[in-house]
Amino acid sequence: MFSKSTLSLIELPNHFIELRFDRKNESVNKFDQRCLTELKEACHELTQNSAVKGLVVTSAKPTFVVGADITEFGELFSHPPEKIEQEFLTINREVFNALEDLPFPTVAAINGIALGGGLEVALACDFRVMSESAKIGLPETSLGIIPGFGGTVRLARVIGPESAISWITTGLQNNASKALAIGAVDTIASNDLLKPAIEFLENANSGALAWRDVRAKKQSPYDLSASELNTLFDNAAKFVQTKFSGHYPAPMAAVNSMRKSILLDRTEAIKVEARYFAQMAKTETSKQLINVFLGDQQVMKHAKNLAKTETKIEQAGVIGAGIMGGGIAYQSAYTGTPIVMKDIQQNGIDLGISEATKLLDGLETKGKITADKKQHVLDKITPTLNYQEINAVDIVVEAVVENPKVKHAVLPEVESQVKETAIVASNTSTISIDYLAQPLARPENFLGMHFFNPVHKMPLVEVIRGTQTSESAVAKTVGYALAMKKKPVVVKDCPGFLVNRVLFPYLGAFMQMVHEGVDFIQIDKAMESFGWPMGPAYLCDVIGMDTTVHAANVLADGFPDRMKYDFTTAAEHLLKNECLGQKNGHGFYHYEKDERGKITKQHKQEIKTLLSSITESEKNVDEKTIAERLMVVFCLEAVRCLEENIVERPVDLDMAMIYGLGFPQFRGGPIRYIETLGISEFVALADKFGEFGNMYKVTDTLREMANDGSKHFY
Ligand code: NAD
Repeated sequence: MFSKSTLSLIELPNHFIELRFDRKNESVNKFDQRCLTELKEACHELTQNSAVKGLVVTSAKPTFVVGADITEFGELFSHPPEKIEQEFLTINREVFNALEDLPFPTVAAINGIALGGGLEVALACDFRVMSESAKIGLPETSLGIIPGFGGTVRLARVIGPESAISWITTGLQNNASKALAIGAVDTIASNDLLKPAIEFLENANSGALAWRDVRAKKQSPYDLSASELNTLFDNAAKFVQTKFSGHYPAPMAAVNSMRKSILLDRTEAIKVEARYFAQMAKTETSKQLINVFLGDQQVMKHAKNLAKTETKIEQAGVIGAGIMGGGIAYQSAYTGTPIVMKDIQQNGIDLGISEATKLLDGLETKGKITADKKQHVLDKITPTLNYQEINAVDIVVEAVVENPKVKHAVLPEVESQVKETAIVASNTSTISIDYLAQPLARPENFLGMHFFNPVHKMPLVEVIRGTQTSESAVAKTVGYALAMKKKPVVVKDCPGFLVNRVLFPYLGAFMQMVHEGVDFIQIDKAMESFGWPMGPAYLCDVIGMDTTVHAANVLADGFPDRMKYDFTTAAEHLLKNECLGQKNGHGFYHYEKDERGKITKQHKQEIKTLLSSITESEKNVDEKTIAERLMVVFCLEAVRCLEENIVERPVDLDMAMIYGLGFPQFRGGPIRYIETLGISEFVALADKFGEFGNMYKVTDTLREMANDGSKHFY
């Protein structure tokens, strides 16, 4: 009857119609301009047909509708805010309100994930039937915008403003039982959703369900007194202010939009939403969060395409059951690849297994896994003290101590035990892959697989290609990282690889400022205000002063012109005085456990006194300058990595810094940050700090780009 490229109308018995989303040649349904136009046409068609008695909205894909097509946002949001506002008012009127206003009852059959526009289309229906396994939510604030297809208006009226504020500001996905308990859906069904959906239509037509009242509630002002409104929204604003920094304005915009629209009728309420939507669409934050979302997709697509060319890793091994080895074994087993975990000491093995058990216990307590699943995961880890068990594995990750001599002894030993085709990977954080490959018989099967600590939490894996590493080894390792639910980024071998190479000059610039007499607490504050999850002093404490100094030395040897310092660094001095950081409770800060066992960070004057022997007299520098100096150094090293092809594309670099270091997402990554400032402005900033040494030195290529205003990285 009506069949288009993204959806069709299908006749059902008893004058009911199914509106089925089924985007041709794609795996998911999404709202792009085409789909919106076709939905508008479908609604028009339905209003013309006076015989229709009810509508079921379904999806032919495993997911319902995943939301708006984010690739279209760039063009859409380039318009002035008034135009964006008008555009969204039109879409609301012609599509979502039109669906809501159909002259017969409507029900959405949510068979799988329904996010953003996907949930908004379901909210425009009178009833919602949800599959047990589906998830629903409005994640727009995590992209720096707010729902724009009537989501703030309808959800607030369907589940109440308090719950709607929570759903919209956190952007979380909600499971079926939560959705039913809160009233976001009307029933849950196990598999065939059409049957219960039709029952809703029959009951609506028989008068057993007051569908017109349900609809009218979504279109009317919410029943709330002025004082209730003030209390509710004042509390919400306080909650949002403490939870989200000012760098992320969308959650507060959502609260304000709902506050201003909750006592209005649908037409006026949607006008408010459209106005706030347009404001958020024009922010730098939404621009960068959307870039990050699309960047993540690009990196993952690239990785999946690489992995597709090779066979899957069926069996893995890890050598060393310490912090990292234990973490790798847990993650591999948890995500389904069996793993042999070898150590030379029984207590090493015991520690590795007890760490894995602890993590699984935590998941079981939270109800995220069953006792059976826990046992199943533990059964996938084979602990051993000898090599026999690793001869069948497809990949083995070496994670013994960070000592070149030990690794040079262990790696050939491992290589001689595994089958010829097996990949041997090292989780070294600093030692050159080419150097480690020297004693190996099959260097083409060797590379770096650099996980970050803690392995189960940190998304990034650097896959480090040595000069002799084969394409096949890279592709298989990328596949294994994906199977472990990690984000692999392929990089070329160099001191520090990608992430540490960019991080350590930044820490060097920090040490330099401390040496000049700037207060490290003030530096931490400046960098946290910039958006980093923690400042550099605290980061050194987390990494550990021994590891920090060790890695800094490796980088100083690799890049002496800009990473070797002619002063004793604060980290070296603290290490000499046995202040190792969090691992022994003393570093730049002092750490103690509170009564709930949580580690608290305090500052002690004695550390400043200790540092005074290696610092010049106190120096005051404002926070803006502090952040500029440190970020210039960070970004310049990132640019050098791109110029030297350590990483292939700017997007890989930006995403690696976000996944591996927690680079502030609202800034999009270091390369996006340079482009936001403007390349010539960035170069001028770096030149301003030229007196502080070579780490502030702009590369020739970057200077050329600055002079030729038309050039960009992306
Ligand atoms: P760790 O000291 O916690 O563990 C090392 C383990 O290796 C110990 O259990 C030890 O018994 C075992 N071991 C030593 N020699 C062995 C051998 N010949 N055969 C088998 N096992 C042996 O160290 P870690 O922190 O887990 O670091 C391991 C590797 O991971 C290092 O190369 C390190 O640079 C790298 N890394 C560490 C981190 C981190 O934050 N800890 C992050 C990324 C990478």
